[in-house]
Amino acid sequence: MDDRLFRTAMGRFATGVTVITTKVNGIVHGMTANAFVSVSLDPKLILISIGEKAQMNQLLKESSNFAISILNNHQEDLSAYFAGQIKEERTIGFDIFNGMDVIKDSLVNMTCTVQNSVIAGDHTLYIAEVTDLRIQDGDPLLFYGGEYKEIK
Ligand code: FAD
Repeated sequence: MDDRLFRTAMGRFATGVTVITTKVNGIVHGMTANAFVSVSLDPKLILISIGEKAQMNQLLKESSNFAISILNNHQEDLSAYFAGQIKEERTIGFDIFNGMDVIKDSLVNMTCTVQNSVIAGDHTLYIAEVTDLRIQDGDPLLFYGGEYKEIK
């Protein structure tokens, strides 16, 4: 099986889109991710999968906590930006939720503390406990077949 076939098949799994944020030495870093899974209700655990080459991977090892913002259907531009696909420097006005920087107006903001990490091939899986969350109105941004979609 070649890489392209694998990626194409995985892209047939429709997902939402999140931006993960963390802070190290007073500097906030954000990264777009769709490898996000709800894991456990008691305790409340989620999982994210971060590529070994992503700056975020190194930063999470240092911070051990992060926030997740689930994007709404008007936040495609932010998804592309935090995926490094828009080559310009922007000043992002983050909201503060439970003491952490999060994306404004997104569907859900949650703060998380890393409980465990497992290297899995060229990614690291971070299993984290959700320490607080809030929900806001709106429709989700979806990602399918390498393209952004909306619920119709
Ligand atoms: P960088 O590429 O260095 O940063 C991303 C961008 O955000 C840069 O432009 C940077 O300047 C900017 N930025 C960051 N913080 C700030 C700030 N505080 N203020 C202003 N600008 C800032 N990769 C994974 O590993 N796992 C996934 O689950 C995953 N899912 C993805 C889903 C989608 C829909 C897309 C499009 C990409 C996904 N990626 C995923 C790829 C990942 O988003 C990119 O490879 C990303 O560039 C890696 O982030 P990085 O930590 O290296 O940050």
